[in-house]
Amino acid sequence: MGTMTVRAGTPLQAVQEAADKAGFLFALDLGARGSCTIGGVIATNAGGNRVIRYGMAREHILGLEVVLPDGQIVTSLNKLIKNNAGYDLKQLFIGSEGTLGVVTRAVLRLQPAPASTTAALVGCSGFDKVPAILAAARTQFGPSLSAFEAMWPDFYDFMVANIPASGSPLGGKHGLYLLVEASEFEAGREVERLENMLAALMQAGVIEDAVVARSNGESKTLWSIREGVSEYRRLLGKVVSFDIGLQTASIGQFVEEVRTALSQRWPGILSHFYGHIGDSNLHIVTNLPAADATAQKADITRLVYDRVRKAGGTVSAEHGIGTQKLPYLSYSRTSAEVALMALIKRALDPRNIMNTGKVLPLG
Ligand SMILES: Cc1cc2nc3c(=O)[nH]c(=O)nc-3n(C[C@H](O)[C@H](O)[C@H](O)COP(=O)(O)OP(=O)(O)OC[C@H]3O[C@@H](n4cnc5c(N)ncnc54)[C@H](O)[C@@H]3O)c2cc1C
Repeated sequence: MGTMTVRAGTPLQAVQEAADKAGFLFALDLGARGSCTIGGVIATNAGGNRVIRYGMAREHILGLEVVLPDGQIVTSLNKLIKNNAGYDLKQLFIGSEGTLGVVTRAVLRLQPAPASTTAALVGCSGFDKVPAILAAARTQFGPSLSAFEAMWPDFYDFMVANIPASGSPLGGKHGLYLLVEASEFEAGREVERLENMLAALMQAGVIEDAVVARSNGESKTLWSIREGVSEYRRLLGKVVSFDIGLQTASIGQFVEEVRTALSQRWPGILSHFYGHIGDSNLHIVTNLPAADATAQKADITRLVYDRVRKAGGTVSAEHGIGTQKLPYLSYSRTSAEVALMALIKRALDPRNIMNTGKVLPLG
């Protein structure tokens, strides 16, 4: 089995490239790959584009070295897949946002590198078609389905208009756009299988149009629309954004309700919806043109999170709590869960010196 032991400050992209050079895949991938570090990825239990296939950061970590708040170094650089010798201590630190200790080294789990990977962009009439398309993709590809992303028209049209060299690869307009990616160990097979699956869906009237990438370059072009999110700040300045989790079946209705509520309250507000829909993870970006969006931030946030709470969802699917979502932790966690988190925090960091004020209320 492939493992890689790295220092926490190593950039994610450097890890991906080193794994690739050695004939393996480090399967965690996100838009911030060039700037984020392995320590940050572990501390936030980052998700990203391939969670549907490989899981979140937690699934990629076999061992950790951590410095505790009292200065003790706990070296637990396990390389075994199975190791039930007592508590699995690394899990405490993965996703704890640096509140329990500083990660200094990690043993990463590598995967066999697929021979080829291809993406398809699909247009369909709306979210009600997603369950059938997702079911077909899961049946066709099983574990080889490596991404299933959704983009609502407001997001899609904005990106194709603003991201240079993209333009819409599909002819007409659609109610929803999906990016479906599959990887195969037999080179080239995924193109044929994607085409067959999409042809069957088209014939059944489930999808309206589709384009399958025939090279890495074409795949990158399709992904560039989805990855245009890294340009938001340049294009829109200040935005109020959300990273929420909901049961997949309820996402379509949730989007319509939130969009309507936002535009009724703030006519002209821009609201974009997209996300890792195969993982029940929805992102929302809002902006109030010609107004100070930050002044309205608290009201916009409450409007969205009230609906997330009502739907039984989570206020943080993959970005963590930090300080900004702290007032809303109780929307997604019971008081018993928060009390247990506080107990662990007090046990490890009684002087409250590690990332004070993040994740849990002060004191
Ligand atoms: C363009 C873009 C796209 C993104 N896409 C995704 C996505 O698809 N999915 C997703 O999950 N996230 C995404 N993110 C957010 C992502 O989670 C973070 O950028 C990244 O994982 C954090 O790594 P970092 O090194 O930048 O950490 P920082 O932002 O520097 O830190 C994040 C937190 O971790 C703590 N921390 C950092 N290093 C350590 C350490 N060694 N030990 C203990 N605590 C530490 C910090 O104190 C802080 O609380 C995206 C970000 C950008 C900019």
